[in-house]
This record gives sequence, C-alpha cells and structure tokens, in this order.
Amino acid sequence: MVATPTAPPSAASRPAVSDRHRLQAAQLDVPTRLLLGPGPSNAHPRVLQALGMRQVGHLDPAFIELMNETQELLRYVWQTDNEVTIPVSGTGSAAMEATLANTVEPGDKVLIGINGYFGLRLTDMAERYGADVKQIFKPWGEVFSLEELRAAMEEHRPAMLALVHAETSTGACQPFEGVGDLCREFDCLLLADTVTSIGGVPLFVDEWGIDMVYAGGQKALSCPPGIAPLSFSDRALAKLNARKSKVPNWYLDLSLVGKYWGSDRTYHHTAPINMNYAMRECLRLVAEEGLEERWARHQSTGELLWEGLADMGIECHVAKEFRLPTLTTVKIPEGVDGKAVCKQLLADYNIEIGGGLGELGGKVWRVGLMGHNSRPETVVTLLAALKKVLGK
Ligand SMILES: *Cc1c(COP(=O)(O)O)cnc(C)c1O
Repeated sequence: MVATPTAPPSAASRPAVSDRHRLQAAQLDVPTRLLLGPGPSNAHPRVLQALGMRQVGHLDPAFIELMNETQELLRYVWQTDNEVTIPVSGTGSAAMEATLANTVEPGDKVLIGINGYFGLRLTDMAERYGADVKQIFKPWGEVFSLEELRAAMEEHRPAMLALVHAETSTGACQPFEGVGDLCREFDCLLLADTVTSIGGVPLFVDEWGIDMVYAGGQKALSCPPGIAPLSFSDRALAKLNARKSKVPNWYLDLSLVGKYWGSDRTYHHTAPINMNYAMRECLRLVAEEGLEERWARHQSTGELLWEGLADMGIECHVAKEFRLPTLTTVKIPEGVDGKAVCKQLLADYNIEIGGGLGELGGKVWRVGLMGHNSRPETVVTLLAALKKVLGK
C-alpha cells in the first residue's frame, strides 16, 4: 500500500509564528576603519565596486570568460605556467587546506618549518589528513637557511616540505632560492604559503620550483576575505592522480573542482560569483601596475614606516634583511601597554593594528601595509596617531 500524502496544514491549524528573534535591525552601517593589522586589509575601491556588479550564472559564457581571465592573471601574479591555477571558494585557510587535502595521503612524511604561527596551523591540518609530520624550528622572527633545510631533508627524507614564505605572525620573509632544487634532489614536493607575500613581495613560483602554492585575497591583493588562490605544478598533480584513496574532503577535492575550472565545466559547487568578480579586479590592478612596480611600492612604503619608527626610538623585531614590507612586527616599548595602544588607535583614530601571537604575544604590534594600504599617506597617518597615543 502506498501511503496517501497528507495535505499541508491550513493557515488556521499552523502554530503561531514566534517573533522572539525578529530583531528590528538598523540598516547596515560600519565605522570607516584604516585596516593596518595582519589582515584583512582595506579592499581597493575598484574591487568593492566589482563586488557589487550584477550577477550572471556560474556556467554563463560571460562568467567562463571571467574565469579564464582570472586564471591567466593569477599565473602572472604568481609567475607560473601551471594549468591548475584557480581561486578556491573560501579564505586563505581553505586554500591551505585544499593543498594538503589533495596531496597528503595517510602515512606521508611531511616536513614543516615552524618559525611562526602558520607553520603550526599547517601541522594541525596535515595531521588531520594522516600525515606523519616532522618539524624543524626557528625562533619566531628568524628564517631557515638552505643548509638547515638540507640537514632536515637528509634526516627525515620527507615526501613534502612545507614552508611559509611570508610569516604574518612574525614579519619574516623566508628565502626560497635553492629550496626547489633541494626538494627535487630528494624527490620531495615543495609547498609554499604565500598569503602575505602575493602581490606584495617578489615571488616566482616556477623559478623557485614550488609545487603547491596558496594565497589569500584579503592581504596584499586588497580583496575582501572569501576567495583564495591556489596553484599545483605537474609534480603535485601527479601525486594527486596517483592517490590510492579518495581526497578526504569533498568540497576541496581538486579532481572534482578542477573539472569546473578545466575544460569540462562540470558543476561541483556554485562558484561565489561576486567574489570572483572581486578577485579578477584585484588581479587586474596588479597587472596594470606591474609586479616590479608593485613590489617596489611595498618596499618603499615599508621603509618609510621603519624610518618613522626609528625616529621615535622604536625598533622592529625582524632583521632588516628578512623583514617583510607587507607586515612589520614592531617592538612594544618598555613600560607601554600594547593592548591599550591598539584600543586607543581604534577608538580615537579609526586605525586597526594587530597584537602579537604566540611567542611574540605582548611583545610586538603587527602593522600591515598591504596592497591598496601600502601608500606614504597611510604611514604618515599611522605615525602621527601613534605619537599622540604614546604621548610623544
Ligand atoms: C592570513 C593568513 C592565512 C590564513 O588566511 P585566512 O584568510 O585568515 O583564512 C594563512 N597563512 C598566512 C601566512 C596568513 O597570513
């Protein structure tokens, strides 16, 4: 017997609607902040404009054209010819997780450089995918030398080496010259976190032999958080294609997502249309400006900050040679309440800067000069406000 479907209850017999959570919220309004912390940074006005553009469907020929352009621009920004170069739907951590979910198989030895917070996050993620994680350590604010990396490779013989190019928790820039060759010598894949370097400091994915690379939109690309680029070399794809087990994360499975971004255009999940508009626009801004020019702009803005701080008798945590222009860790002067300064900068001057994480908690402020915010007037504004707050 087939059960007869019951008719939906009539309005009269439905329960009464509760208004308990029916908040009369005001029309959205937020303060005008200058976002000079570790991220997000202020989006470029043109990116916000692109975000508000009318929608098309995710398989619309106009959108597919946009996808192709975005991929091509990403290849420029990363200096790579990798076919699989796509934006992941999510923030930088989603792209980070996608690189590991696709390439790590249970039992794989993954060597991770820990010289800041994001190496720890990589460890946490890699372990969740079953990796046998080996770690090498450096004090926060320092970087690994090629000799140190070689010694660790010889000791551990990993299937993958993961390093953070721009450590946002410390302000240090890890050199990559020679690391790709080292990895090939040991038949090892090289993974790089470039979230705070992309579009801000010199970065050559192919030249440096990086196999898996990810970034985020919200740092030096001046895109709001919510979309994050990723790129895989042929070696990384070979590892993915040779997997014995399915990628243990459906949403981030590149063998599925890749069919949508590749020639098949098969539906996997609906691409965040407007976030992709924003990503295209921020990449277009990089191409317009030119990479060399953009890197030079970030460097000179960073130096302006460092000089201004020195004039105030304030020091930076990282040696100049390895200091990131996109993120500066500033030593909190003796006797100053770092948290109170951050609070006052926000309350009185609408300026957000960050506090220290982990080993550097309570010891430094983190100042981001990323993308659209990397301009002399930003530095002058911050220094003037900081002088007031510190009573100088
Ligand atoms: C910000 C950041 C991430 C994570 O990006 P989210 O957008 O916060 O998910 C990863 N790595 C580094 C180095 C970062 O600075």
